[in-house]
Amino acid sequence: MAERRKFKKRYCKYCEQKVEFIDYKELNSLKFSLSERFKIMPRRLTGNCKRHQELVTVAIKRARQTALIPYVIDRKKVVENPFEIIR
Ligand SMILES: [Zn+2]
Repeated sequence: MAERRKFKKRYCKYCEQKVEFIDYKELNSLKFSLSERFKIMPRRLTGNCKRHQELVTVAIKRARQTALIPYVIDRKKVVENPFEIIR
């Protein structure tokens, strides 16, 4: 169990900072809930409460639409996928 725990404590970072509204332009606050490939982190990893996770999800989706956050990271930068060329 100790190995699998990437995140030390389960607490909502937004509750701790008493965030009431998450702005999609504030990428610093969204970073908590984004993985390094800009995916939305699941609640079980971040420990966000349900209310804030929903706010974060909406904010991240808005940020993607406004091109503040990429939808996907270029796969070639991470791992070359040979099946991609065939298609
Ligand atoms: Zn919260």
